[in-house]
Amino acid sequence: MKPRTRPKLLILSSPSGAGKTTLCRRLIKTRPEFELSISHTTRLPRAGEAHGREYYFVDRNTFDGMLDADQFIESAEVHGNMYGTAKDEFTRIFSEARTPVCDIDWQGTVSVQSAFPEALSIFILPPTMKALSERLKRRKTESEAALKLRLANAAIELEKFHFYRHMIINDEVDTAFSDLLSIIDTGSPVRPAPTTREINALLNEVG
Ligand code: 5GP
Repeated sequence: MKPRTRPKLLILSSPSGAGKTTLCRRLIKTRPEFELSISHTTRLPRAGEAHGREYYFVDRNTFDGMLDADQFIESAEVHGNMYGTAKDEFTRIFSEARTPVCDIDWQGTVSVQSAFPEALSIFILPPTMKALSERLKRRKTESEAALKLRLANAAIELEKFHFYRHMIINDEVDTAFSDLLSIIDTGSPVRPAPTTREINALLNEVG
């Protein structure tokens, strides 16, 4: 496979608990030319999260003010909270000649892809819904109600796989990471891309 030029923009999405954040962090550590695009959110910080590192945590008034001032490239309600990618964030990363990595949902992906058709979008799938549910529970970051909402939303998110240029099954993090690097570098994963049958099996699991 021929080496490709570095993508201008990378989008990584997955249902909560599919391991996207781990892959994202590993990419940024391994490849300093990539930089996380830090979103604004009205969600409250979890234990260990810091303003300006995981997110810019803002209240609803501030978020709405930014919306009115047209400061977002995209914004969406996800799991009952508002999230948005500020235009300033891309400007900052582009000015450093780096590639923004957007950890955003499918709604944000549709908007960003329409603004930046050259964006490389990758959807991370869990191997099974059971694995996803177990990983979310083990994380212990959500209340019981938030956990239920995230699991219910996972089914809706999985149905949006066709908005993405590539898909990776995160059954084992090292293998999934090799696929991620290979897609970035050559345009194809190391393993064959997930088949419609595998995706349908996941969708059937959620009914
Ligand atoms: P979490 O609350 O677990 O950090 O993120 C919840 C979901 O919101 C994840 O699917 C994440 O990708 C998505 N998300 C985070 N930031 C943004 C954003 O700026 N825009 C959109 N559309 N989704 C986002």
